[in-house]
Amino acid sequence: MRVEILAVGTELLLGEIANTDAQDVSQGLSELGLDVLYHTVVGDNPARVRQALELALSRVDIVITTGGLGPTYDDLTKEMCAEVFGYKLVMHEESLERIESFFTKLGRTMTENNKKQAMLPEGCTVFSNDWGTAPGCAMEKNGQHILMLPGPPRECKPMFRYRAMPYLAALSGGALHSDWLRIFGMGESAVEDKLRELMEAAVNPSVAPYAKEGECLLRVTAKAETEEAAAAMTAPMVERLKNELGDVVYGVNVDSLEQVVVEKLRAAGLTLACAESCTGGLVTKRITDVPGASAVLLGGVCSYANEIKAGVLGVNKQILAKHGAVSAPVAVMMAQGVRRLMNADIGIGITGIAGPASDDTNKPVGLVYIAVSRREGEGSVTFVRELHLSGNRERIRLSAASNALNLLRKLPV
Ligand code: ATP
Repeated sequence: MRVEILAVGTELLLGEIANTDAQDVSQGLSELGLDVLYHTVVGDNPARVRQALELALSRVDIVITTGGLGPTYDDLTKEMCAEVFGYKLVMHEESLERIESFFTKLGRTMTENNKKQAMLPEGCTVFSNDWGTAPGCAMEKNGQHILMLPGPPRECKPMFRYRAMPYLAALSGGALHSDWLRIFGMGESAVEDKLRELMEAAVNPSVAPYAKEGECLLRVTAKAETEEAAAAMTAPMVERLKNELGDVVYGVNVDSLEQVVVEKLRAAGLTLACAESCTGGLVTKRITDVPGASAVLLGGVCSYANEIKAGVLGVNKQILAKHGAVSAPVAVMMAQGVRRLMNADIGIGITGIAGPASDDTNKPVGLVYIAVSRREGEGSVTFVRELHLSGNRERIRLSAASNALNLLRKLPV
């Protein structure tokens, strides 16, 4: 089956946004072994959307549209898709109820034009939207299919994965199951190097690596008659990969390092306090991104200035003057200081140079110290790591925060 992705949106043509939906959808289609022949972009203009659809249907079997499912007058994808297949739009009551309850949950009143989002082509397969309001759908005519997905990437991506992919897998008589291994501390190319032969030989299940925000992900996907059968095929491969890679695999089907850290500390009944300099609160922020973080995190101090390191955290001024703010002893005293200040079980201290310029001590950009201090009976145990990180300011800060979370993840409890 050949596929064309048709992105609808004038913003894309104006260059205001990049067509990341097409990228996400294409990645998923390659997992399914479907060939994508074209990425097309068209503005919010009914005649041109229709023309683009007709052209797509003249050359592929499956057209996947993104965008233009919203409530406003220029959202016209559904109208045009229904028109080219000669189907009527009818009110889909279940979708209408979902949209109404979405607004109720937000405490907002639904406006009349939102009802338009629940108008769907008659006889279509509805893709319910758990991530926003506009449902997507798929319709078929004479062996050709049009699938419609919403524009916002946070809706498009999960709807494609959880609604459209199973629909497409079923077209060729099967079901899919994917497991995701999350890896920190080994880059995509190192992972590929180590696993090249295994990945090349793996067909069903297939194994594919992805790089994401300084981390590496491995996706293991199997296709079988049922989802359960596909899951039974991925499981041994997941175990094999975990054995090959060892400790760098921090979770399977988990969302993030911070999620693993929160779950681990919560299970162990341990509390955490953070003292952050170069990361400016990023570790604290990422921990609080996880629902239930309050059971673990007591608080954080963003101790950017030396006066705060000394005045709030109790970092010794002579040590600061002698070693500089970016040094192992200062990281240690930050971790110890914040642990005592907040009466936490674990304190973490991070200090470093995120760049672009070095500080006045001429220490290199990317030099970061992370210390972890842990209460042990009446006393405490503290260790510190020196890291040399590369990349721009944002990258160094992200990487420093991830390394800090990874140290917490590996802490024996
Ligand atoms: P809504 O219900 O929010 O109106 P929609 O399905 O009508 O969704 P659009 O109105 O076309 O979608 O786009 C909504 C937003 O989604 C755009 O402002 C843009 O930020 C994002 N978006 C749309 N298409 C794409 C795309 N192809 N790639 C990335 N982002 C996109």
